[in-house]
Amino acid sequence: MSWKENVRRVTPYTPGEQPKNTDVVKLNTNENPYPPAPAVAEALRDIADGYEILRKYPDPDSGLLTNALADYYDVDPDRIFVGVGSDDVLAMAFQTFFDSGKPVLFPDITYSFYRVWCELFRIPYSLIPLNDDFRIDPERFCIPNGGIVIANPNAPTSIALDTASIETIIRSNPESVVIVDEAYIDFGGSSMLPFVNKYDNLLIVQTFSKSRSMAGARIGMAFGQPELISCLKDVKFSFNSYTMSQDVQRTGAASLSDGEYFSETVLRIINTRNAAADRLKSFGFSCPESAANFLFVTHDRLPAKEIFEALRARNIFVRYFAQDRIDNYLRITVGTPEEMEKLYSALSDITK
Ligand SMILES: *Cc1c(COP(=O)(O)O)cnc(C)c1O
Repeated sequence: MSWKENVRRVTPYTPGEQPKNTDVVKLNTNENPYPPAPAVAEALRDIADGYEILRKYPDPDSGLLTNALADYYDVDPDRIFVGVGSDDVLAMAFQTFFDSGKPVLFPDITYSFYRVWCELFRIPYSLIPLNDDFRIDPERFCIPNGGIVIANPNAPTSIALDTASIETIIRSNPESVVIVDEAYIDFGGSSMLPFVNKYDNLLIVQTFSKSRSMAGARIGMAFGQPELISCLKDVKFSFNSYTMSQDVQRTGAASLSDGEYFSETVLRIINTRNAAADRLKSFGFSCPESAANFLFVTHDRLPAKEIFEALRARNIFVRYFAQDRIDNYLRITVGTPEEMEKLYSALSDITK
């Protein structure tokens, strides 16, 4: 016997590359190309003045940020859970709500972390195939299960699912918690947030990483009825109570205080995205209509892997998934118009 037989072995999630080289046009991890709101920079300056904040443990309930979210979204604070990025919130939700022994359902093509958490927590799961056009068929989620996870808009397909279809899934599965991962919802699609008081088995998860340009701050949140939130907190407080510092909470609240900047940057990305879809078509690409801050493209002639490598050689990073059904697709994050021009000029050369 060796300790090696007693180790929990997992195949981790593979994040997109974070290059050391700063010359890279980085369109591979769906970060926002614009800086966080000016109010966030101000909050950071205040933090530098008051480093006394580091001496004490933070508020385990993250009250400062929870209350700011409650005001912003007009949702009661007891319906909000805050975590260190939505990855933290989702991992906690998997651990909390998926304990039935029955398989958890999610699409075969979706955020690959769902699978990793199931493996890590030993939760059985079953992959529900997307249709040939990469759309979710809600009927396929109406089978016995131990929980459901839907990313809306879905990643990496960029396709949004309408709220009526999500309601069908929620209503057909009263014995399961349905998690709707809305990491990209501010760029398109309709949020389930208006339904948070209507369904007791709905948990909506969002993040500051994409639309609020704060991937480095690690802020994610969940909305659900108070009993769901209280179950989540019990698991969190059984693991690590003090996950989010007061200063990060302040930056989050500062971001929420600047609604105008938020709408402006989101709109800029949507406009750049829509222009990019047309431009890429002129090089022989096609893509589903995107409701996110990225495009999921395939070329009519050249293999995706070849394009990926040719772009990489030109210091332009996009995401390629060597995965069944999507290995001829690239996921391209929407950057600034200047970054996109660099992409177009490289692609016009590569596809000529
Ligand atoms: C980016 C992303 C997340 C995680 O974001 P955090 O940075 O951990 O908040 C969750 N779900 C999907 C689908 C994502 O694309």
